[in-house]
Amino acid sequence: MFRIKPKCSICDKDIKAEENVFVKMKYPKGRGMTEIKAYIQNEGKIICESCYEIK
Ligand SMILES: [Zn+2]
Repeated sequence: MFRIKPKCSICDKDIKAEENVFVKMKYPKGRGMTEIKAYIQNEGKIICESCYEIK
């Protein structure tokens, strides 16, 4: 799904395959869902499950 190596934006941990992650991002304005992957890569912050639960 990601071209770049996904990392948690809080603890910098590498995200493993099938791991639950949360993506924090603004909903894209005036764009279709077809661009959502590119949008997440540019704008999204990936948060691993353990960091998300601390909050
Ligand atoms: Zn984390």
